[in-house]
Amino acid sequence: MSAALPVGSDTSGEVRPSPLIIRGLVKRYGDNEVVRGIDLELAAGECFTLLGPNGAGKTTTLRCALGLTAPTAGDIRLCGEPVPARAREARMRVGIVPQIDNLDPDFTCTENLLVYGRYFGIKDADIRARIPELLAFAGLENKADARIQSLSGGMKRRLTLARALVNRPELLVLDEPTTGLDPQARHLIWDRLKQLIRNGTTVLLTTHFMDEAERLSDHLAILDAGRLLTAGSPRDVIAQHIEPQVVEVFGEWGNAGNGTAGAPAWAAQHAAALSDRFEISGETAFCYVRDPAPLLAHLAAQPGLRYLHRPANLEDVFLKLTGRELRD
Ligand code: ADP
Repeated sequence: MSAALPVGSDTSGEVRPSPLIIRGLVKRYGDNEVVRGIDLELAAGECFTLLGPNGAGKTTTLRCALGLTAPTAGDIRLCGEPVPARAREARMRVGIVPQIDNLDPDFTCTENLLVYGRYFGIKDADIRARIPELLAFAGLENKADARIQSLSGGMKRRLTLARALVNRPELLVLDEPTTGLDPQARHLIWDRLKQLIRNGTTVLLTTHFMDEAERLSDHLAILDAGRLLTAGSPRDVIAQHIEPQVVEVFGEWGNAGNGTAGAPAWAAQHAAALSDRFEISGETAFCYVRDPAPLLAHLAAQPGLRYLHRPANLEDVFLKLTGRELRD
């Protein structure tokens, strides 16, 4: 599917001002300090991703940035405007895709776009003229008159994305845009986001999917407990925090006539000598290595053990920095 791009961003190549600058952001709910001094600056035209476990403060940071909740302290400039003082004016130049779709279920696709466009003071005739383009971008050309209830989850997400473009935003903010979507629907959203980024729209997103962050982001930051733990390009963040290669070891390990044990028992005896660092999670030993050759040679001689050898990725960094314990 190819579609004309419904944004009006400047792609002339001149350096544009940052669409979002956050300095020293603090947010407290009662005694609970959920954002504890965050600094962020987005470059115009980039994709920036906020990663963090549940409760890290990602949504609160976005809500403060958009002027939807008042910060306890800090300075925010959104599209050049001070927030919260001029949040309403700033939001006129921003597109928002919330975590939970809030399309009007009683309206058709066209009516949803029309009503949303009116919030921005766009004339009905101008919105109507643009609707075919927006629906094409969302791959919903044939759904103009369909009611929201009849759409699949993926279609609703795409319509919410198209709706967020109705005002030709400079900055598009998406809170977990692909949560709950099947792989096909995720790929379509990624494709559309890449198209927007290529054409100059700045994108700020949160996600729990490391592959999504790695594919889309120019820069990312990992948050936990209201603080930034690291920030940079995906490649730099991986190189800074993790050995370049990972061998995940699992399966059975022969135990000299005493039955078999699993990878954790193997790791207790051998992993320290054969890897730069290792972690046990459940029945798997994660071995982080600069030179995998000695470990792989050793594993080749252990018939019950199985392993997966792969390059280090963002999920390894995420788990190293935020831990493997479950969050609510
Ligand atoms: P994330 O998006 O990273 O999962 P959130 O920003 O939603 O994290 O939440 C961060 C913390 O702030 C959580 O502990 C959450 O319970 C708390 N929190 C969020 N919104 C409110 C609110 N309106 N009142 C009180 N606590 C809140």
